[in-house]
Amino acid sequence: MDNLIQFAYIISAALFIYGLKQLGSPATARRGNMISSTGMLVAIVAALLDQGIVDYQWIVIGVVIGGAIGAFVARTVEMTSMPEMVALFNGFGGMASLLVGLAAMSPTAATFTLVTIVLSILIGGVTFTGSLVAYGKLSERMTSAPIMFAKQQMVNGAIVAGIVISALLFINFPDTGFWLFLVVVLSLAFGVMVVIPIGGADMPVVISLLNSYSGLAACAAGFAVDNNILIVAGSLVGASGIILTQIMCKAMNRSLTNVLFSGFGSGVQETTEVEGEIKPISVEDAYYVLEAASSVAVIPGYGMAVAQAQHVVKELMELLEENGAEVNFGIHPVAGRMPGHMNVLLAEADVPYDQLLEMDDINPRMETVDVAIVIGANDVVNPAAREVESSPIYGMPVINVDSARTVFVLKRSMASGFAGIENPLFYKDNTRMLFGDAKESIGGLIREFS
Ligand code: NDP
Repeated sequence: MDNLIQFAYIISAALFIYGLKQLGSPATARRGNMISSTGMLVAIVAALLDQGIVDYQWIVIGVVIGGAIGAFVARTVEMTSMPEMVALFNGFGGMASLLVGLAAMSPTAATFTLVTIVLSILIGGVTFTGSLVAYGKLSERMTSAPIMFAKQQMVNGAIVAGIVISALLFINFPDTGFWLFLVVVLSLAFGVMVVIPIGGADMPVVISLLNSYSGLAACAAGFAVDNNILIVAGSLVGASGIILTQIMCKAMNRSLTNVLFSGFGSGVQETTEVEGEIKPISVEDAYYVLEAASSVAVIPGYGMAVAQAQHVVKELMELLEENGAEVNFGIHPVAGRMPGHMNVLLAEADVPYDQLLEMDDINPRMETVDVAIVIGANDVVNPAAREVESSPIYGMPVINVDSARTVFVLKRSMASGFAGIENPLFYKDNTRMLFGDAKESIGGLIREFS
């Protein structure tokens, strides 16, 4: 039986890895999700058989209640609220590892097991409360501004010292439950303390980092209960979370330290001076330009998600193609508010994957594009990142829409984007501003075409 269970664990580990690989492309992502979920089902069934002493009654109750809540929220969540939901998932993952660590506690356990118990409780606790704060900031249930107070570093230092001392005391005197209790309380407090000084705007990166932590907590819990597949699954989540965090930081041209400690996105110094004037355009005039275009690039951003304009964008794409134009989409790695945000929305509207070009593929073609339509994107097309050395986003790779012959920017006002800075693109000679909600503006263009 034991061999069979270990074999099932190997199968599920292989399914996790294969599923993760498939998640790398929008075309195979759904399948990848199914494959990894199947791997998790195999792992859970094998783990239940492995333990042998489980009470199935409670497990069935847990599966029914948890499954119902999960299915309900997954079906009803707005696409723009996805990062908040992921934050809650990570938090509960952390809490689960904390509880596994507590359940594995035994005064007779070997020192190594005691260390892994402390780690699963520490990382799980930090992940739990850190994720709840991230959720609160993103959903604006609490202030999204960085929360700072006098002697904050000293308080943090005292908490860390308290965690280290109580962990050492627990490992040396495991009979005294008090020290472990102290580790739990201080870990929960530390999770709050590390996330409150970070601005709400940087929460997606923090969530990705906490996702990595939830994996590490699960990995430690796997060691604590001596379960191989939990170790493997935790390591995969830990590693992929940190890789994603790295990709997000790189795409914003910022270091992780800068994200965690600079309070970016809240009160950034504006240093971009703009020249030129704003040239608004009407839907009718925009239509005449588009009607004559033979090559169009669509650059979506966060505003497309807010306007839920993806379906009308697809409709416009079809009309342009019927009119003889070549249409491609330029997808910036951090467009929107979560990784893959634009890909998910456009996939929902059935835009063919081969028309979604990554930034590095669309930029060399931009000079041959007749019209670049920027739909609710701002920072990811800001030429200040290339041209203004003093700009807070200087060095961030952007989509060079200003190289296209004509640029249409669809947004409601002159408001800035996530980074809170001026965008010289709006003032360039070849840019026309099509003011209004993106869905309504595109609806207007569609009416003109038909
Ligand atoms: P931005 O946040 O820079 O700009 C979005 C624009 O959309 C705004 O200027 C807004 O202007 C416009 N907008 C909002 N609602 C509508 C609407 N209904 N119709 C039309 N326009 C609308 O978005 P980008 O996608 O360009 O950039 C993403 C930013 O988020 C980057 O700075 C990135 O670093 C950051 N970020 C991204 C993460 C990710 O994983 N994707 C994670 C963390 C941060 P107006 O109000 O005038 O309409």
